[in-house]
Amino acid sequence: MIEITIGAISRPMEAKKNKTGDWGTEYPIVDVEKCSGCRSCEMFCPDLCVEVVKENKKKYAVFNYDYCKGCGVCAFVCPENAIRMEVKEIYKLEVE
Ligand code: SF4
Ligand code: SF4
Repeated sequence: MIEITIGAISRPMEAKKNKTGDWGTEYPIVDVEKCSGCRSCEMFCPDLCVEVVKENKKKYAVFNYDYCKGCGVCAFVCPENAIRMEVKEIYKLEVE
C-alpha cells in the first residue's frame, strides 16, 4: 500500500487541508478607509486568499489568514497603498 506524504496533492481540492497561514513571517492588514475595492489584490494573490466584500455600500479587502503565506504581493499591487505588511508577534525581536 502506498503512503501519502504530508503535503502531497493527489486529489482535487486536497490542498485545502494543508493550512499554510503559519508559513510566513508577516501578514497583511487593510486600511478599510483607503481601500477602493478595485480587486487588484484579489486578482494577484497567488494563494487565492483575498476576497473583496461589500458592506453598507463600502467595498474592502478581507484576507483568509488560514492560507495567506505573507508574500506581500497584495500590498505591492495595491494602487491606494491601503495594505501594510505586519511582522507576526513571534518573529519580533526584543531589543533592550
Ligand atoms: S500576503 Fe500574499 S498570500 Fe497573503 S493575501 Fe497578500 S498576496 Fe495573498
Ligand atoms: S488592491 Fe488595495 S484598493 Fe484595491 S481592493 Fe485591494 S486593498 Fe483595496
